[in-house]
Amino acid sequence: MRIDAVTIFPDYFDALNISLLGKAQEKNLIQFQAHDLRKWTFDKHKTVDDSPYGGGAGMLMKPEPWGLAFDELLDPEGETIVIFTNPAGEVFKQATAYELAKAEHIVFACGRYEGIDQRVIDYASTEAKVRLISIGDYILNGGEVAAIAMIESIARLIPGVIGNAESLAEESHNESGLLEYPSYTKPASWRGFDVPEVLTSGNHAAIAAWRHAQQVERTKAVRPDLLSD
Ligand code: SAM
Repeated sequence: MRIDAVTIFPDYFDALNISLLGKAQEKNLIQFQAHDLRKWTFDKHKTVDDSPYGGGAGMLMKPEPWGLAFDELLDPEGETIVIFTNPAGEVFKQATAYELAKAEHIVFACGRYEGIDQRVIDYASTEAKVRLISIGDYILNGGEVAAIAMIESIARLIPGVIGNAESLAEESHNESGLLEYPSYTKPASWRGFDVPEVLTSGNHAAIAAWRHAQQVERTKAVRPDLLSD
């Protein structure tokens, strides 16, 4: 999968060179590149923002550099998915990650200031599949952290990126809709806290039943909304 990110802070994306995603890039399972939007500006100050028509606080990202970025990065056959990081978009979920893990090419458009001129989104929709995606109901300063979160979540679903693919099946937010059960490792007793006896019993059926009960209990307590979905 090819992934591009357009941003005024490409250094944020250095985090993707670490650990499993760094290895996935070395193995060519993903080809990632961050692009500085200012590369597509031509004035002395490399300006990417301007004041909003109609007034209001803050600045907006102006359309021209984005148009040139899309001219360079989008697949002419329209196969690219452009994701605008946007707190007013659909909320990113594990199901979204599974869907996007099938894509061949994704371009993340990272907003800053008060966001991006609406015509950039309207234009991109004529050239590519466009999605506006939020990573949650809160406001970040820019789209970089949101894009990194999505890229990590999408890329780990690409075959070969995670060493043990079975670990994906047991995680929270998979199809079961249940959160993961609590987990323990050695030592069996630590600072007065003991590992639940059932986990050291060797009885696999009893362990599976205990884990399922824990999942249901935890989900009811912390995220009852997941059970009613
Ligand atoms: N004025 C915008 C609003 O009220 O919806 C918020 C702009 S925010 C300060 C700047 C940029 O950060 C946004 O354009 C978007 O790219 C990114 N951003 C902020 N919160 C986000 C979130 N929850 N999910 C995804 N992107 C977000």
